[in-house]
Amino acid sequence: MISTPLTEICGVRVPVVQGGMQWVGKPELVAAVSNAGGLGIITALTQPNPDALRVAIRETRKSTDKPFGVNITLLPSINPPDYEGYARAAVEEGVKIFETAGNSPGKLIKYFKSEGCIVIHKCTTIRHAKSAERLGVDILSIDGFECAGHPGEDDIGGVVLLARAAQELKIPYIASGGFADGRGLVSALALGAAGVNMGTRFMCTVESPIHQNIKEKIVASTEQDTVHIFRTLRNTARVFKNSVSEQVVALERRPGGAKFEDLRELVSGARGRVVYENGDPEYGIWSAGISVGLIRDIPSCQELVARIEKEAEEVIAGMSRSVKVSSKL
Ligand code: NAD
Repeated sequence: MISTPLTEICGVRVPVVQGGMQWVGKPELVAAVSNAGGLGIITALTQPNPDALRVAIRETRKSTDKPFGVNITLLPSINPPDYEGYARAAVEEGVKIFETAGNSPGKLIKYFKSEGCIVIHKCTTIRHAKSAERLGVDILSIDGFECAGHPGEDDIGGVVLLARAAQELKIPYIASGGFADGRGLVSALALGAAGVNMGTRFMCTVESPIHQNIKEKIVASTEQDTVHIFRTLRNTARVFKNSVSEQVVALERRPGGAKFEDLRELVSGARGRVVYENGDPEYGIWSAGISVGLIRDIPSCQELVARIEKEAEEVIAGMSRSVKVSSKL
């Protein structure tokens, strides 16, 4: 067993968090991750309104008695969500762990802390991490350039970002972006993290509520198969490379660039959602991290989390056998 401040604070067995994923963080996946010993996270905005989030929370509780959390991500949206309504609904339903992410999270973080909840805040720069630390979050989730979705605008890979976190942060942090296996977990621990956050890896599990074709597409992909969109709008997102994301990039690169209005039809989340429902990877934009290159199968969450735990323990034991450390005393 690998015990860390993450496992202690959140009451989970394995230091692995299933991060928020739009259209994917639904009860069946969340309960499976939590039952496997990790921390499952419901994505609030995947539910159409706060009442639907209440139903999703109750549904998750029917399938697990283990801890799970709720993600609320604050980013530009075509239809501005009722963030406060989602937050209140989750707190009233008794959720004790929140993952926040995105811009200006101060008000939400203060609310969750005033309700005695644990907050894991995801950020992509040390500057934002330190400001969240001052706001009183419990754990930071340090999201490197490798991640799916929104990596920020600074393009710092996980190795340096996590080492910087070790230098600067006082509270525990977990590593996010590019993690998919036990070796990755050990590397995160070596960089001072208390665990890992995985999104793309959990998309490709038996219980993940997306079409089998998309899971198979992930298995067949390499680390070359993602691309950044919205770079020119300063809302960069790493998504799967397909005809739609390549069209978006081409529009952004044309002379004079593109406004969001020029891209809206191509990038809408409603269209991306259909990808997961009908299994056509070319239908719209869908998020994926560079870790697609590491994913070779579609295990159950139980198999995956157990494998990561075993592999991490073997890597740690193997290192102490193969790396000789001599003392000059
Ligand atoms: P959406 O249909 O509202 O927007 C699609 C994409 O366009 C998103 O990446 C969004 O950030 C971006 N966008 C929207 N308006 C924009 C603008 N004016 N300028 C620049 N970019 C703009 O998105 P959705 O799929 O319905 O998701 C709802 C919200 O959840 C979005 O803000 C999205 O970024 C966010 N999100 C959450 C997660 C998560 O893990 N919880 C993951 C991905 C995205």
